[in-house]
Amino acid sequence: MKFSVKEFSRFGTMQAITVKLTERLPDAIQAPCTVNCMLMINRVDNYYLLNLETNAELNIECQRCLKLFKYDYHHKDELALCLHEDRANTLMELYDVVVLENQEFNLIDIITDNLHLYAPWAHEESCLN
Ligand SMILES: [Zn+2]
Repeated sequence: MKFSVKEFSRFGTMQAITVKLTERLPDAIQAPCTVNCMLMINRVDNYYLLNLETNAELNIECQRCLKLFKYDYHHKDELALCLHEDRANTLMELYDVVVLENQEFNLIDIITDNLHLYAPWAHEESCLN
């Protein structure tokens, strides 16, 4: 699911988009996985800032006890979308950075990467209950 940063930044308000993920999910997360997103893109001199809020009810297979459980996933993110690699290097201290291809960003890739980083892979406390 690709969007042009230029066109998206014209909205100027949060946009609601629902995506269904089926591929490249972490092992613990059952597919398909529906994620509700709110996002806004603002242009900042020669890069774009993406504000992204994601919510999903994840079905997770605990990687310790192999039982399924539901997890309310909420994540907020601020990402710099850069047109060029050299700009990305200078922004890395401030933001997570994505270098764009053809001035487009791939929402599914960004959300999937975040699930790999931030979704749990096992019961958070103990597996006993
Ligand atoms: Zn468990």
